[in-house]
Amino acid sequence: MPTDDDIADQKKLLAAYRQTLAFWLSQRALSGPIHDRPIVEHAIVDARNNIQRIKSILVSWGIAIKDHPDDEPSNSWKPHEVSEDQFNDKELNEVSSESIGKFELATRDKLKDFFHLKDDGLEIRVYLSRHYSRTIWPLLGANAPVREPARSRLMKYEAEEARFLDEPKQFDPFTVVSALEAIEAIKLKDEIERAPLNDVLSRPGLVSDHVREQLVKKRIHVQLGVCPELADLHYSDMLQPGIKIFIGGPRANLGAYYYLYGEEAGILRPKRAQKNVIESINDTDSQWFCEQHNQHCDECNLALIQWWRIDDNHWVFYLSGTGVTGTAAAVAYLRRYWLEKFYEHRNKRGIAKILRVARAKPENIDQYVSRDWPVYNWYDTKPALVEG
Ligand SMILES: [Zn+2]
Repeated sequence: MPTDDDIADQKKLLAAYRQTLAFWLSQRALSGPIHDRPIVEHAIVDARNNIQRIKSILVSWGIAIKDHPDDEPSNSWKPHEVSEDQFNDKELNEVSSESIGKFELATRDKLKDFFHLKDDGLEIRVYLSRHYSRTIWPLLGANAPVREPARSRLMKYEAEEARFLDEPKQFDPFTVVSALEAIEAIKLKDEIERAPLNDVLSRPGLVSDHVREQLVKKRIHVQLGVCPELADLHYSDMLQPGIKIFIGGPRANLGAYYYLYGEEAGILRPKRAQKNVIESINDTDSQWFCEQHNQHCDECNLALIQWWRIDDNHWVFYLSGTGVTGTAAAVAYLRRYWLEKFYEHRNKRGIAKILRVARAKPENIDQYVSRDWPVYNWYDTKPALVEG
């Protein structure tokens, strides 16, 4: 269950987003039709998405929240409510874009601090886990409720192919990256690179040349890659100084395995052989598993968000967990809450946070690939934050 602090945090956030929304609504009222002002519209949509997200969290916690008329888009806004003078006030229009540009510059500075990047090295490498799989043909079989003549054709193919199914089972040398993890990795990349705003702000005329130059200069590049294997030529890159983010635990990510089990550069780690268990590196009797059900729960996964400073030039971030959902949730949580939950801890040597999340089911895939991770499905475990 959420603590009083959690509830207070969400209420503060809700108030902050409502203030932000009010500001941008006033900018829109002054600046005329929204199609002329993509950036204002972007800010309004973003604030409303966040308001809905926070309300759904609070409601799922059983906290009653009064709706505000601005929370939802309404059709009552009419351009003629704005005077002609205000509508044509070019200076005012420029002010609002410029203020978003400046706000965005400040966010980039914060990201730079958070990831300990240097001016000449605004780059982060992200390593996705590598899984092996063999392909299993989907078969309809004789009892499939399908129509003729499709059914007869399919039965014929399946009969002809049956002999191949008896071949010794081999793992294809085929690398699989989990779809949920990959989607979350792209969203994380977008968040760090500030991709949506970057696209808008790079249009000429929206912000001053000075701000635009700064925005380009301060852009952080995220290089996504699949975690190499020992035989890969670029394996040693993974060991070089720099900021690295490993997505996926030591069961499927060789980098996470190396750092957590070899260097022991972290606080907690998912166990390798035992599924769905996280342990303390320094005290392996200290273990975390689903608190709600039990050690062998098959309804939940654990997400682990963690970083560790090896030295000033060498930081490793781990977004891992148990199962595919645990890992994807860890990525989602960091990209959503880096500023609110982790930023103030950025200079600590190590931080670890565990969350319990519902395991993804194929029938719910739509939820997990949507813009918003179903946040109401994740729960803090205790302690909420472990420091190294
Ligand atoms: Zn459980």
